[in-house]
Amino acid sequence: MAAPPRPLIAGNWKMNGLRKDGLALAIAIAGRVRAQGPAPVDILVCPPATLLGEVGKALEGSPVALGAQDCHEAAKGAHTGDIAAAMLADLGCAYVIVGHSERRAGHGETDARVAAKARAAHAAGLVAIVCIGETEAERDAGQAEAVVTRQLAASVPGAATAVNTVVAYEPVWAIGTGRTPSDAEIAVMHARIRDDLAQRFADGAAMRILYGGSVNAANAAQILAVANVNGALVGGASLSADAFWTICRAVPD
Ligand code: PEP
Repeated sequence: MAAPPRPLIAGNWKMNGLRKDGLALAIAIAGRVRAQGPAPVDILVCPPATLLGEVGKALEGSPVALGAQDCHEAAKGAHTGDIAAAMLADLGCAYVIVGHSERRAGHGETDARVAAKARAAHAAGLVAIVCIGETEAERDAGQAEAVVTRQLAASVPGAATAVNTVVAYEPVWAIGTGRTPSDAEIAVMHARIRDDLAQRFADGAAMRILYGGSVNAANAAQILAVANVNGALVGGASLSADAFWTICRAVPD
């Protein structure tokens, strides 16, 4: 059997941090890595767009990668306020999150648009982290698996590979709420996503599937030990260097 994919711990800072805070956080995270040696995981921080330049400079020479929280699907043009994937790559980003549920809900992003953003990310040489996940009402209605299968099919482009794409399963009701699914519930959802990926993509077995939704320093080890969980997308807890670093170290050997 092939070795499991190398885990990825990604911090989504969302719309938090002025220059001073963001810089201090990035320096603190890079400092933990330097002082304690690299964790057996890929580590990524996704600051707000305003901080990408400075945080990128602070992370130079460190194994901590830089990512953005969104990109536009067009390569350039008349899209006031938007940012093209190539602009992110130009700033030193290696990853971009697309289809986060806060953008799907707050900006009306459809699966088709998310897929277009992922294609734009690939064209710019970025790894797309494609977010999917059911709402609480969908879970209560017994539709959680069907919803993620549908979102996966429509949000992940056909040219996705284990190198250019990461899937993040983030139940909407678990984001920022302090509530998490049980280990068994996470296992069911990740197994379903793994099956879907393996059926559709030649290297689907090697694609990383992150869990996201109220991961913190206390619950990370348990969640990261669940089958087919290849890392975490962390919101709130990624704003603390100590908590984020504890999560990075919680990945099982
Ligand atoms: C997220 O925003 O992707 C997220 C998982 O947030 P939190 O960890 O705060 O639930």
